[in-house]
Amino acid sequence: MLYGLHEAGYQALLVGGGVRDQLLDLHPKDFDVATDATPEQVKAVFRRSRLIGRRFRLAHVRFGDEIIEVATFRAAPRTPDEGDEDDLGDAGRHELDESGRILRDNVYGNLEQDAVRRDFTINALYYDIADFSIVDHVGGMQDLRERRLRLIGDPETRYREDPVRILRALRFASKLGFTIDPAAAKPIPALKHLLLDVPPARLFDELLKMLLCDHAQECFAALEREGLIELLLPPVAAELDAPKVRPFIQAALQSTEQRVREDKPVSPAFLLACLFWFPLQRRQRALQDEDLPPMQALAAASDQIFSGMGSRVAMPRRFTGMVNEIWHLQHRFTQRRGKRPLRLLEHKRYRAAWDFLELRGHVGDADAELAPWWEAFAAAQGGEREQLQ
Ligand code: ATP
Ligand code: MG
Repeated sequence: MLYGLHEAGYQALLVGGGVRDQLLDLHPKDFDVATDATPEQVKAVFRRSRLIGRRFRLAHVRFGDEIIEVATFRAAPRTPDEGDEDDLGDAGRHELDESGRILRDNVYGNLEQDAVRRDFTINALYYDIADFSIVDHVGGMQDLRERRLRLIGDPETRYREDPVRILRALRFASKLGFTIDPAAAKPIPALKHLLLDVPPARLFDELLKMLLCDHAQECFAALEREGLIELLLPPVAAELDAPKVRPFIQAALQSTEQRVREDKPVSPAFLLACLFWFPLQRRQRALQDEDLPPMQALAAASDQIFSGMGSRVAMPRRFTGMVNEIWHLQHRFTQRRGKRPLRLLEHKRYRAAWDFLELRGHVGDADAELAPWWEAFAAAQGGEREQLQ
């Protein structure tokens, strides 16, 4: 992959999480490649590639089963007093909004410029296969050795450019067990509200990365400590200290971590169902008190929660649909007579709903006998099933 670009006369280096995790003896999730070739030039080198890009253009190159992201070196945005913006040319303009946030950054640059526009020093290490060396323009190797998360440049400016870096700081610190450099930690309380200006779909993606990783519990704790559960997931924060809620969420995060470590798939819908279950029930009860029948109250409560959240953190419909199914199936687990249990077993969300029931059982939110009963019922053969009933 890298050799292909080399043979065509371009620079090509591995960068980002892949290099960082490799140096820390962790399993890299993926590898990113940085090059001086433009996306079009990358595309010309690799037949199996296509150009993508919302905020910036990248080439995706297929390599066996994997897709490797190849990005052209880019430069950091320049503040107006650093020079005349006009000499950058058309493709080379950064757009910042009034709070300093980058709206578009498609300015090509050289390797050193590419390094300094990255977020943390440990994420700006390049591995050059030409001579097997590490290229470090930002002191990342020392921070890696000292297990420190340091933002490149002035922290406040970097958070303003892209407030999501706040979440990334918490995620990497939790995941790697690094300390956040005091200079990078200090501005967070005063700037965290800028997260509300980030497009809600991107916030959702970043939150999922935190809560569906192998250190989900630590990430959740960090979010709570910084007041970000309150800011980003207010219904969850409001219920967190009610009985059973925290143990339930902890159990959900713990089972997520376990699955990630075992390389099993994790489901965003399942986690969302857990996070919002108690807030949901509170609203459902309130609506039932207003004489809505239970299932209608559940549907209306769910609408209230998700539409209320939408302006901060947008959850795609494919997930909220599944969340609703998991919730709706819960009361059907109490109906164990007649033909109903067989129909429930055939439901496409049976498995997720059962996992959910089991977690509820652990914290005393459902009859602890119920999940094991269903497990036995599902495993039993025809006649044995009737005996269970
Ligand atoms: P992981 O993939 O394990 O979550 P990563 O460091 O690879 O961690 P990615 O989101 O895959 O994170 O991004 C790849 C690289 O792109 C980062 O290592 C960093 O150098 C750069 N990067 C990503 N997001 C930002 C950002 N918001 N601001 C500046 N640089 C970023
Ligand atoms: Mg990555």
